[in-house]
Amino acid sequence: MRIFIQPIGDLEEDLIFALERGLAEIFNTQISILAPKTLTMSCFNPMRDQFNSTCLLRNLKPVWITLGVTDMDIYADRMNFVFGEAELNGSRAIVSVYRLRSMNSRVTEERLIKEAVHEVGHVLGLKHCKNHCVMRFSNSVAEVDMKPVEFCTECKKLLGF
Ligand SMILES: [Zn+2]
Ligand SMILES: [Zn+2]
Repeated sequence: MRIFIQPIGDLEEDLIFALERGLAEIFNTQISILAPKTLTMSCFNPMRDQFNSTCLLRNLKPVWITLGVTDMDIYADRMNFVFGEAELNGSRAIVSVYRLRSMNSRVTEERLIKEAVHEVGHVLGLKHCKNHCVMRFSNSVAEVDMKPVEFCTECKKLLGF
């Protein structure tokens, strides 16, 4: 397994490097950072002032596991916003740092890593989990902060870790 981080638009290098380290630790695999890609403006919804996450996802080139990272606010069907979206058992995922930001950059990094691990978990076939687990669904930053960055024992078993 190999994970490619695809920065979309402008993002701080430090944040991307922190994400790389976090993913390498959890998945114990090689992480590559691709050259930044520009935002697909056709995915922008001016009525909502948000980008459609599914549209951005479909614009990612699938290589092994490709994780798009954006600083823009993203939404999906029937959702006011999403932290991320993934292809279940597919190869692509996307996360947005927009609603995960804190004054403390360490907190921002930690939240981004959790949501990225969560979305990659979906790509690897995991569904939402009710345990104390990174696969818990989170609808707010408070919920993101409460869940751990790790997979629970059951999810680990499903992943073959
Ligand atoms: Zn999820
Ligand atoms: Zn779990």
